[in-house]
Amino acid sequence: MNYDIQSALKRYFGYNSFKTGQSDIIDSILAGQDTLGIMPTGGGKSICYQLPALLQPGLSLVISPLIALMKDQVDALNELGITAACLNSSMEAGEVRRCLVEASQGHYKILYVAPERLASEVFTNLLRNLPVSLIAIDEAHCVSQWGHDFRPSYLQIAPWIADLPSRPTVAAFTATATQQVRDDIIKLLKLSNPDIYVTGFKRENLHLSAAKGVDKTKFITRYIDTHPEQAGIIYAATRKEVDALYEHLHSKGYSVGRYHAGMNHEERQQNQEDFLFDETRIIVATNAFGLGIDKSNVRYVIHHNMPRHLEAYYQEAGRAGRDGEQADCILLYAPGDVQIQKYLIENSDLDEARKSGEYKKLQSMIDYCHSSRCLQQYILNYFGEEDAANHCGNCANCGQEYEVRDITIEAQKIFSCMLRMQEQYGMNLVAGVLKGSKNKRILNLGFDRLSTYGIMSEMNIPAIVDLMHLLEAEEYIYNTGGQYPVIRLLPKANPVLRGKERVLVKMPRVPETAAPQSD
Ligand code: ADP
Repeated sequence: MNYDIQSALKRYFGYNSFKTGQSDIIDSILAGQDTLGIMPTGGGKSICYQLPALLQPGLSLVISPLIALMKDQVDALNELGITAACLNSSMEAGEVRRCLVEASQGHYKILYVAPERLASEVFTNLLRNLPVSLIAIDEAHCVSQWGHDFRPSYLQIAPWIADLPSRPTVAAFTATATQQVRDDIIKLLKLSNPDIYVTGFKRENLHLSAAKGVDKTKFITRYIDTHPEQAGIIYAATRKEVDALYEHLHSKGYSVGRYHAGMNHEERQQNQEDFLFDETRIIVATNAFGLGIDKSNVRYVIHHNMPRHLEAYYQEAGRAGRDGEQADCILLYAPGDVQIQKYLIENSDLDEARKSGEYKKLQSMIDYCHSSRCLQQYILNYFGEEDAANHCGNCANCGQEYEVRDITIEAQKIFSCMLRMQEQYGMNLVAGVLKGSKNKRILNLGFDRLSTYGIMSEMNIPAIVDLMHLLEAEEYIYNTGGQYPVIRLLPKANPVLRGKERVLVKMPRVPETAAPQSD
């Protein structure tokens, strides 16, 4: 590493060391190489272009779509004594004029603009007459139709650069790592033989785990009970689920708030602040919560539902353990989550090609939940980051926090009972029959005369239901859902019933609260 940049980091920003990848990216830019930096949100992209901007002569232009954040960035730089300014559509004409005049006098080292500004003739003429050493393009995935945030104005960047009297170094940054988006960035921004760095996705202090077939609400309350005093975020897929889980936890007396887009602004703001300032310990939220939130002591993030793709999952889970201390990221998976996501993709207005891309990402997310590989490695591979180690030693799979259990006999009992009940009833009633419950409905329906009545009497009903959840997650049975949910057998159950195949399940021992227990 170049020691000049190390001392410049300390001198300008007060940091003692670089975050992963920063020094490589900075070296590359200073060597005049076009560079593509792929780093997660919070990975420290800004310094990757701010430091070269300070170490090179002339002006550095930063193109960013995040108008709301520009002003903050500029204020922060000014406070550090760095001359920076921004130009965006929310500014008044007088302000813009003043900024342009000062820029023309070589007053700034760093100028932030929204991409739309490049269409302005006055601005373009000004820039053509200034020594520009670097153009940094933030949120570069906006140039790709495959990204989640396409901006047509990004397509104007490459021709605009090509028209400059001399070509500065171009550096592009994004947190989106899919190959398609990466290819588009290089092609559409016309990066010239760029150095590519994928970096900083590894978070060694996160303990990743995925639990299948658990009763989610019960799991969450047990987890909270065994982690008192700790701050945590629980993400759920819909407003309805957030409300239901919130009501449940609130009624049990937990220190909990909620956050979703259906609530009014004041209420959301208040709940967010209560959580940030430790007034409430837990927040139940949709994915609307968390953007730009920097709370360092979040000790766990539990996903009540599986998100659509790993980009979303890792970004949300990554809000845990910002302080570098151990934190848990637990994903509770149920087959119903897949149905929701498929429904959303199918009913979106995406064209067929993009739908198929979304299905592929969804499949990687599902595979993560079923994987027995190191989960950290799985994620790093997905994002394209190379890592020499092949296991993290910290996730549930590395820690072997699971046991393989043979539940063939239990499964056969459950399947036979379902068949004898004509596959017309829900989990609780089938479990009641297996337990040998004297429930009125069971007796009225004459199910006490079935040969399967009471054949699991040694277990209690919730434990039998937990087993059913597990069989559902492993796709032996299917829950119709809806107002009157009914469980049905899937083809995979046939060979088990006929004694031709065994049912071996991996039961995760997620931190301190084991999966299906009988209590
Ligand atoms: P990104 O744009 O990638 O989301 P930022 O550039 O905003 O991330 O940086 C995220 C946080 O990390 C900021 O609070 C920033 O001050 C901090 N940061 C960046 N580089 C370093 C470093 N080398 N040492 C310590 N903190 C850093």
